[in-house]
Amino acid sequence: MEVTGTSKREAAKGLTHRVREIRELSPSAYVLQMERGGLEFEPGQYINVGPQDSIAMREYSVYSGKDDDFLEVLIKEVEGGLVSRALRRVRVGDSVAVEGPFGFFLTDPEERARGRYLFIASGTGISPFHSLVRSYPEIDYTLLHGVRTLSERYEREAYDPARTIACLSREAGGDFSGRVTDYLREHPVDPASLCYLCGNCDMIYESFDILRSQGVAGSHLFAEVYF
Ligand SMILES: Cc1cc2nc3c(=O)[nH]c(=O)nc-3n(C[C@H](O)[C@H](O)[C@H](O)COP(=O)(O)OP(=O)(O)OC[C@H]3O[C@@H](n4cnc5c(N)ncnc54)[C@H](O)[C@@H]3O)c2cc1C
Repeated sequence: MEVTGTSKREAAKGLTHRVREIRELSPSAYVLQMERGGLEFEPGQYINVGPQDSIAMREYSVYSGKDDDFLEVLIKEVEGGLVSRALRRVRVGDSVAVEGPFGFFLTDPEERARGRYLFIASGTGISPFHSLVRSYPEIDYTLLHGVRTLSERYEREAYDPARTIACLSREAGGDFSGRVTDYLREHPVDPASLCYLCGNCDMIYESFDILRSQGVAGSHLFAEVYF
């Protein structure tokens, strides 16, 4: 029987997805790769994921590309956290509960063809940008990634080195020493840039103020707050 996009999607809703692969990216961050299970999404959206034997779920941006035959999320294990730690105990072959996709942290097809993007991420906030760059490799972007240490530049080979600036706040060896907000103050942006920000709210609010003071219109600012 031919399975349509809609019925594939409905079949995936609220179902469990088998884990195919787990990649350890740093002492506290990992990628959970699951079977796609017909789940359709737009880069920038998130899914709810949780252990199969628990009702607890949390939001995770989709990390994989829209044409991949698998579904991935990048998770940082939070100290004392319920779900991020429980998911760390999942093994290949186990299943996890998945709902979604949800969210409106999206890019417009016309703007992708002609716009210049500034992606600003802190930590695992790089996840939606990984999905975007993997799905639309032709996109014109600059990626600012704010991390504390070199090990947190998760899978940096996925991005064009000429377009990527790792801002390291606690270790030398990145492209810039300091926070993304320090970088923005020292390198004013082109106000025509479409600015997408993702990660912790302190970084996002401070960056918003800097970008607004540099002439970026509110209509060019988009944010996904993780915590
Ligand atoms: C739309 C959306 C998308 C998200 N996408 C991702 C993602 O792609 N990858 C990812 O790792 N997380 C992501 N998060 C955060 C995620 O949903 C959980 O909040 C996180 O995994 C902690 O859940 P927990 O159950 O382990 O901790 P909880 O038991 O729920 O809470 C522990 C504490 O940790 C804080 N916290 C949450 N995230 C972090 C963090 N990264 N670093 C430090 N403290 C934190 C919370 O504010 C809370 O105070 C996203 C959140 C939202 C709202």
